[in-house]
Parts: sequence; C-alpha cells; structure tokens
Amino acid sequence: MTPSIDRNQELFDRARELIPGGVNSPVRAFRAVGGTPRFVQRAQGAYFWDANGQRYIDYIGSWGPMILGHGHPAVVEAVQQAVQDGFSFGAPTEREVQLAEAIVHLMPSLEMVRLVSSGTEAAMSAIRLARGATGRSRIVKFEGCYHGHADSLLVKAGSGLATFGHPTSAGVPAEVAQHTTVLPYNDIDQLEQAFGLYGSEIACLVIEPIAGNMNFVRASVPFMRRCRELCDQHGALLVFDEVMTGFRVALGGAQSIYGRQIPGFRPDLTVLGKVIGGGMPLAAFGGPRALMEQLAPLGPVYQAGTLSGNPIATACGLATLEQIAQPGFFDALAARTRSLVDGLSIVARSEGVEFSVDCEGGMFGFFLLSSLPQDYQTVMTSDSSRFNRLFHGLLERGVYIAPALYEAGFVSAAHTEDDIATTVEAAREVFATLR
Ligand code: PLP
Repeated sequence: MTPSIDRNQELFDRARELIPGGVNSPVRAFRAVGGTPRFVQRAQGAYFWDANGQRYIDYIGSWGPMILGHGHPAVVEAVQQAVQDGFSFGAPTEREVQLAEAIVHLMPSLEMVRLVSSGTEAAMSAIRLARGATGRSRIVKFEGCYHGHADSLLVKAGSGLATFGHPTSAGVPAEVAQHTTVLPYNDIDQLEQAFGLYGSEIACLVIEPIAGNMNFVRASVPFMRRCRELCDQHGALLVFDEVMTGFRVALGGAQSIYGRQIPGFRPDLTVLGKVIGGGMPLAAFGGPRALMEQLAPLGPVYQAGTLSGNPIATACGLATLEQIAQPGFFDALAARTRSLVDGLSIVARSEGVEFSVDCEGGMFGFFLLSSLPQDYQTVMTSDSSRFNRLFHGLLERGVYIAPALYEAGFVSAAHTEDDIATTVEAAREVFATLR
C-alpha cells in the first residue's frame, strides 16, 4: 500500500528540478509507461525496496549486471576488503591481471583484454581499434541494436542501403553519421547488398548477437554465418557487443552458443560490460593479441581512462565471475529462467492473451505478439498501451520489469521458485484484464 506521503513522488519532484527528467539515464524516468519512477532505497537478493518501503521482485537487476542477485555475501566481502586497501591508484594492480586472466579463460576468442568503465566506452574503443587496424572508416550496425551512446553508434539509417546514416540523436554531426550504415537485423539480402556496395570501406560490423535492446531478438544462425563470411571476404572485423549477453546467456557468452552451431565461429573483437563488473562501473573489450597490440602504449590506437581497472570494481567483478564459473551455475539459472517464461506462457494462453517469449541463460524477453519478431520493425508493431497496462499491473503487485517494451529482462541466481510463482500469478491476474 502506498503511504499517505509518496516518497517516490517527492524525490522525483526534487530530482526533476535538478537533473534532466529527474534521472541520470533516460529509461529510468518511466517516460514510455507513465507514472512515478521507484526510487530504490536498498536491495537484497532478488528484491529491492523503494522509498516508500514497498518491496519488488526485481527482473531488471541494474539492467543486467546483478546475475547473483543483490548483495551476494562473497561479493560484498570482496568489495569491503578492497575498500580497505584504497579506492583508486591510477597505477596497475594484481586484480586487473586476475580479472583479465578470468575473462580470457572463460571467453577463448579473447587473447588480450583492456578494462574500461562503461559499455559505451568499451564499444567506442573497440570501434576505434577496428578502424585503426583496418585503416577504414565505415561501420555497419543493425537497427534495434544499442552499443552505448558514442556518436558513431547513435545512428539509425532511414531505409537501409541506399541511404547514408542519419543521426538518431541530435548532436551527432552528419560527417560522423555518414560513416555508419544501419541495416535491418536478420536480413541476409540487405547485408549482402551492403557489402557489395561498400565492402572495401567497411572497418567492422558490430552486432548484439542476441539483441536485448529490442527486447529479445536472436540473430539467426544463417544470418550470423553470413556476417562472419562477408567480414572475412571483405577484410572487415566482426565485433560482438556482448555487454548484455556476456556471462549472462552462457558462461562463454552468446559467442559460445553460435560457436556450437557454426563450426570454427568466433568474433574478432568482443565488447563486455554489466556482469563482469557485478554492479560496479566496469567494462572491457578484447580480441586476438595482434589486434589488441595496436592499442597504446604498444600501437597507434589511443585509448585511456583515469578510473580504468578500478580496484574496487575489479574486486566486485572477480568475485562475481568466480561465483558464476561454479559448476552447474548456468544450468540452474537457465532452469529458473525457463520456469518463469513457461509459467508466463501458460497463463497468457489460459487468459487468451497473444504472447511470445524467449530466453537464454538468465536473460529473457516477451512480446504481446503471437510470434517472436526477427527484426526491429516487427518489434515496433507491439501494442505499447497494452504493454504499459501490463507493466503497471505487475508493478502494483510488487513485480518490477523494465519500464519499456524494448528491453530484455533478467533472472538472477537469487530468484526462487516462490518468486517465480508469485510473478506468474501476478501476470495471470493482469493478463485477465488485458483480454
Ligand atoms: N552495449 C549493449 C548491448 C548494451 O546493452 C549497453 C547498455 O545497456 C551498452 C552497450 C552501453 O553500456 P553502458 O550503459 O555501460 O555504457
């Protein structure tokens, strides 16, 4: 029950006076769904409590990083110990070496890795490296994929091939946008045409292998195979943005899943974030030694960061990776996620609501559509007003999913079967109102 004074509203009113939209990252503002954002007071396990003391089952988990749930004891202890030793040195530490070792061990396409502080920084730096290494400027990205907010990645072309990119965000110079070609996801024909037109200019193709920024859309295996072949044929690099999927959909990331289906498959560069920081500002990019050694101080591609490899963030990331690398961790997480999506499907069907859902490891997405979309245009056909009713119905029942229909959801190791059952029952009640 909301208390007579709504502290969330009070804080939001104060925030809006000082912070654009009242938030430090746009989607937190509930603009799409309406209503008052929940200001988080504290979190533990699968739950957080808002400023009114209301508890929610959390399926956002800080947009992916909290794979162990909030406040896992081993992670808290590692962070507390690290804090005793100092916050930041601007000089190398042993934990950076240990984290790099852990990452390259778990993701064999990486021989070397550089740590940074956000996914945006990691993607931007990987693109610079790809351009530096190939001596080319053009990048290819896909509609509906988000790679952080660096200028050249905030571009969405009007209609594929013939057009050069137009900035999606104001403030991206046309001179920058023109080097980005945006193609529809999962469209082999357009991909082939783009390489036919620009092949020798393309530095890299950057892709979310499972696109969590248009909810949950998988790149089909034939599409991914063609991406790899065309990059090889034209001397372009294939950059996997696994900021969301890395250590989330499987221990070896989405690339381990495509690697099982396409013999010899691996990306050239990989961008990581979220889970590798366990909730602290930490991200990374990596790839083969010959490529990574093009980075300063060894090579001509400059990249740097005052807080890169921060000792507290690396302690948090290392402790998190240690937990998720335990035998059986991903099987259990995937089973819990599967139990959620199966439960949701059953109640949607019984309540006569069009519903499609997919999941991998601890990541899931659902659509109020009869079948799973393959591209952004189809995702856009979702009925947002029904989604908004679903969102608020769940929120009122203490279940917190992403406040926008273009976002994936996340299950953590802390979610119990009881949490899943509570969620499914809440969904059943809300679905009944959506018919
Ligand atoms: N790449 C992907 C796939 C993401 O999902 C995100 C953020 O959600 C980013 C890059 C940017 O990461 P950050 O928000 O840490 O800058």
